[in-house]
Parts: sequence; structure tokens; C-alpha cells
Amino acid sequence: MEVSNFFAERAGLETTPIRWKEEKARGLGYVDAETGLATEYMAIYDALMAAERVQEKEWEKLCYFEGCLPIEELARRGYDTLRFGCMKPVGLRDPRTGKIPYAVVQLRCENLRADSYNLVGFQNHLKYGEQARVLRLIPGLENAKFLRYGQIHRNTYINAPRVLTDTLNLRDHPSIYFAGQISGVEGYTESIATGLLAGLYSATAAQGAGATPVPRETALGSLVNYITQADVKHFQPANITFDLLVPLEEELRKKIRDKKERHRLQCERSLAAFDNWWHSAAIPTTLSS
Ligand SMILES: Cc1cc2nc3c(=O)[nH]c(=O)nc-3n(C[C@H](O)[C@H](O)[C@H](O)COP(=O)(O)OP(=O)(O)OC[C@H]3O[C@@H](n4cnc5c(N)ncnc54)[C@H](O)[C@@H]3O)c2cc1C
Repeated sequence: MEVSNFFAERAGLETTPIRWKEEKARGLGYVDAETGLATEYMAIYDALMAAERVQEKEWEKLCYFEGCLPIEELARRGYDTLRFGCMKPVGLRDPRTGKIPYAVVQLRCENLRADSYNLVGFQNHLKYGEQARVLRLIPGLENAKFLRYGQIHRNTYINAPRVLTDTLNLRDHPSIYFAGQISGVEGYTESIATGLLAGLYSATAAQGAGATPVPRETALGSLVNYITQADVKHFQPANITFDLLVPLEEELRKKIRDKKERHRLQCERSLAAFDNWWHSAAIPTTLSS
């Protein structure tokens, strides 16, 4: 399951005593909610812990996607979890004090008229009334008008390790290809990338040529490897992470203690493997000519 954020209208925000700092270049607006006062954070946390959630139906089996947990679930995992997640203040100094606040919230502009904002990372599965009550405790959002509340939605995906080959087509129906969320990858980039890959493979097949799967060493290959080789019984969608890439050899890992350097080497290998595949195998001559 994944959960959507709620949206708030700018009008309500402007009537509040928030400090508005717009980063136009990035199209982002940050509101530092002045939760530098830990007592305010505590009030939000307590309200969250006590807030009433939407009860799942008998036939529902709630199984949250770890990369997109609802705030009430994050709160349940520890007092500071939110401060290290969606309320993380790192990199946002309060210009008046020069200090990093205790916690912050980030509002992202959601439309060209710039009158609707999304409270980033505040996905939740609370009852609507409870959402308003809790979120209005955030300094600056006391008078926010909520345009849409957060709600839960279901991720639909096939059991890729059971049915999919490494060229993203069905074992039993090879002319049917899967990519994106439904194939078990998670995220914008992952979905677009596997979409391009499936397109390439199907175009290759349509030309009567055999597709060469993208190498396991690449990020794309690692993602496909994950969705096609994961445990069939406990399959869950995944984003691309360094964990999915081919690890460096034990010897090299022992020698290079710096994690960044290890990652750099993994990337270097991946890019070399990708280039080699792209130039020699990805696009058969029947397509490129
Ligand atoms: C609240 C939320 C926040 C997210 N935040 C991020 C984020 O910050 N970064 C990130 O990388 N990813 C994020 N994701 C995940 C990301 O949105 C998805 O992984 C990605 O959009 C999947 O792309 P897709 O094209 O595979 O599927 P989708 O974007 O779901 O597109 C599938 C399309 O198919 C259409 N469709 C469905 N059934 C039919 C049918 N029968 N006939 C015709 N059309 C049909 C749907 O209407 C939809 O338009 C988020 C997801 C959610 C829900």
C-alpha cells in the first residue's frame, strides 16, 4: 500500500504567521514551521500517536511500502523518526538565528497558479477530521484550508519473479511485456527506464531478432534481476538502490573502506557495462539501419 499526501490552499497559509521562503529556481517553497521549539514537535507527535486511523476492512491486508510510510506509522517507530524523515531540518538554516531548526516541514507548490501546496512526505491513513486536527498543530498551518486529504491506495503489481523473463516479457506469453509499477519496480525513474527497456526488447522481437538482456552489472540490469529473481512468496516492489547492484569482490571491499569510493567503483563498472551493451548488443542492426 502507498499513501498520498494532502494538499493545502495557499490562501489559508498566507493568513498564518509563517515565514515564507521561496526557492524559485527549484520551484519549491519551504515553510520553516518554527518547530525549533521541541514542545511543539512533542504536541504534534502526541496528537499523531493518539489520532484515529481509518480501519482496514476485513478483506484488506495492510502491507505498507517501506519507502513511503504513513506519518502515524513512522511516529509509532520512535519519537525522533519523523525528525529524521519528512521533518528533517538538515540544510535548512533559520536565517534569523543561523541555527538549524528542531524540525521543519516542506510545502511543495502543486500548480502553476501557485495556490495549492503539498505537505511533502506527510502521507497518512488517518481519518479526515483527525488529519485536520493534527496537521493544524504545525505552527503556520493553524488556518490551513485542506483541499484534499491524504488517503491510501493499493499498488497493483504482478508476481514478476514467477512470470517474467529477464527481457521483461511473460514466460508463457512472450509477446506480452511488462514495465513500470505493475512489473514490481517502484519510482518515476525506475518506471520510465524499464518502460524504455521493454519497448526496446519488444521492438527487437518484432524485427525477428533476439534481445540481449541488459547486463546484471548495470542499475537497470540489477533492477530487472531483482524483480525476476526475488523470492516468489514474499515479492515486494523495489526502488533501485546500491544494495541491488553487484557488490564489489570481497578482497576489494576489504581494501576500500570508504563507502563513497566503493559506490563510485560500482557506478563506474555499471556505466562501462551499460556502454558496452548499448553499443554492441542493445539495438540490433535490423533496428539501427
Ligand atoms: C503518493 C505517491 C507519491 C510518490 N512519490 C514518488 C516520488 O517522490 N518519487 C518517485 O520516484 N516515485 C514516487 N511514487 C511512485 C511513482 O509514482 C510510481 O512508481 C510511478 O508513477 C509508476 O509509473 P507507471 O507509469 O509504471 O505507472 P502509473 O504512473 O501508475 O501509470 C499507469 C497509468 O495507466 C493507467 N491505466 C490503468 N489501468 C488502465 C487501463 N485498463 N487502461 C488504460 N489505462 C490504464 C492509469 O490511469 C495510469 O495513468 C509515488 C507514488 C505515490 C502514489
